[in-house]
Amino acid sequence: MKEVELILSPPEPHYVGDGFRVHNFIPGAYRLDMYRMDPFIMLDYNSKHVFPPSDKPKGVGVHPHRGFETVTIAYKGKVAHHDSAGGGGIIGEGDVQWMTAASGVLHKEYHEEEFSKTGGEFQMVQLWVNLPSKFKMSPPQYQAIENAKMQRVALEHGGYIEIIAGQYIDGEGVKHQGPASTFSPVHLSNAILNLGDKAHYSFPAHYNTAIVVIEGEILVNNEFIAPTDNFVLFSNKGEEFTVETSPESKENAKVLVLSGEPLREPIAAHGPFVMNTRQELVQAFQDFNDGKFGYLAD
Ligand code: MN
Repeated sequence: MKEVELILSPPEPHYVGDGFRVHNFIPGAYRLDMYRMDPFIMLDYNSKHVFPPSDKPKGVGVHPHRGFETVTIAYKGKVAHHDSAGGGGIIGEGDVQWMTAASGVLHKEYHEEEFSKTGGEFQMVQLWVNLPSKFKMSPPQYQAIENAKMQRVALEHGGYIEIIAGQYIDGEGVKHQGPASTFSPVHLSNAILNLGDKAHYSFPAHYNTAIVVIEGEILVNNEFIAPTDNFVLFSNKGEEFTVETSPESKENAKVLVLSGEPLREPIAAHGPFVMNTRQELVQAFQDFNDGKFGYLAD
């Protein structure tokens, strides 16, 4: 059994631009550096937050990325995205936007216009997935992963697993595949748990594995309770674990489960660039300053 190593409550939030009020779990204020959850090198969690109506969409203006992928998972509210490689779109509740920055893009991320006007509950996860060195300078790409494209695996009490990327192996050993294409083994899925639902997971021991509790309260491995907005980190021993609704809370629950094979490559990171060496980092800044990331209007 994969053991629970840490259960982290959300650190103090900060704003990214004026549209994302996030708790940073990776690298974060705790002991999770960019290597501990490799290939997941950054995780910002916008816990449920009500934004008031606004005529001007809130968000983050034009900025660059190189060397990795940004994955945005929308739970409440809507986000619009545009990038200098021509990628873009709107993602709403249950959708995922998977942007491969690779050799470099400029992008901007805002609350979608209609959502901005009405305001309302907003809840998102933004993950940075590192790229293996051989793909860091590949061309950028963009995947819009609508909720309807995700395969669902039914649980006993009406809940289900929805697979975003990689595989989910159910309790009977059957493999189910998610729609996102990835550059290294990455498994990402949500579990929507009705009261009494129990989900079984199995990932190789050396895969870095964690859970974000999106809704409700969960019981992990029949032993550990994790409340809403907490982050559960697993140790690198054992393969299997279980997640179910907490018998104490008597509520439905929702969790994001992430597991990935570590790349085990050196990380040279600064701001929006994540490379392998300091020299590549210097080159990234130089290329950005030379306008080699293309153009994107404000
Ligand atoms: Mn960004």
